Amino acid sequence: MSSVEQGGINLKPSGRVAAAPSTALEEGGIGQTVGQTTVQDPIFSCRKVHVSYGNKHGIRDVSLDIGKRQVLAMIGPSGCGKSTFLRCLNRMNDTIPGARVTGEILLEGRDIHDRQLDVVQLRARVGMVFQKPNPFPKSIYENVAYGPRLHGLARSRAQLDDIVCSSLQRAGLWDEVKDRLAQAGTGLSGGQQQRLCIARTIAVQPEVILMDEPCSALDPVATARIEDLIDELQESYAIVIVTHSMQQAARVSQRTAYFHLGALVEVGETDRIFTNPRHKLTEDYITGRFG
Ligand code: ADP
Repeated sequence: MSSVEQGGINLKPSGRVAAAPSTALEEGGIGQTVGQTTVQDPIFSCRKVHVSYGNKHGIRDVSLDIGKRQVLAMIGPSGCGKSTFLRCLNRMNDTIPGARVTGEILLEGRDIHDRQLDVVQLRARVGMVFQKPNPFPKSIYENVAYGPRLHGLARSRAQLDDIVCSSLQRAGLWDEVKDRLAQAGTGLSGGQQQRLCIARTIAVQPEVILMDEPCSALDPVATARIEDLIDELQESYAIVIVTHSMQQAARVSQRTAYFHLGALVEVGETDRIFTNPRHKLTEDYITGRFG
């Protein structure tokens, strides 16, 4: 029986409560996604992606394209499948025992489940930044140098130094750490640690950056810095961000996807979703009336 059918309340560690099933769902599902799920020249093209954890559904038949050099925000109540979908994009669900992913996910036209595809390479192309900053227990320099070294991106120490410096600059952290690169990354403030994790991600030249509630552990000042950074990074990368803050989604994204109980209910231009949602569930959520 799925979580939708069970109608169970899902509590995340944060204590946020999932939406109760709506009558529409009980009567036969949400139906087709409202809005334009495809984009021209997508970096990711996902069709009928379904994830189950044992006998429980995480997401159902999600079809969605992700555009190049733009930010897609994923919003919705806790337990609606945002993180599950995000984790599909770099096959992080592979690491969860019992998780089963079906459907088609193409990255630049190539199936990411192709047996020939190297998952380590995939995760370099599709980097991930987590809710809680998770620097390695290594120096600031080593945190950023680790990936380029692993992927053989630098031929000399000087080249590696360049990559570390430019990644920290792009992550807006260089000026704060340039005189203490040998110190532990874990000694930085929460906001700095998150920017260090972003530097670590961009050091391996990804094409897509996945962010799972990257600001939820940060104060408003650190949050604003990350949001500014997202704005800058979007010029070079596709970014997919899960956020519980609708203000944040409105500020940083060009496109917004609304999930509900494992289904992609609606997707569209962020301005349109927030000013003129077409699906009742989207409207209820953004006006704070769901349930
Ligand atoms: P969201 O990110 O929107 O809060 P999730 O993707 O975390 O939602 O969860 C979607 C559904 O999948 C929920 O019912 C959740 O309980 C379930 N789920 C997520 N991760 C796991 C897991 N590792 N094992 C079992 N069920 C999971």
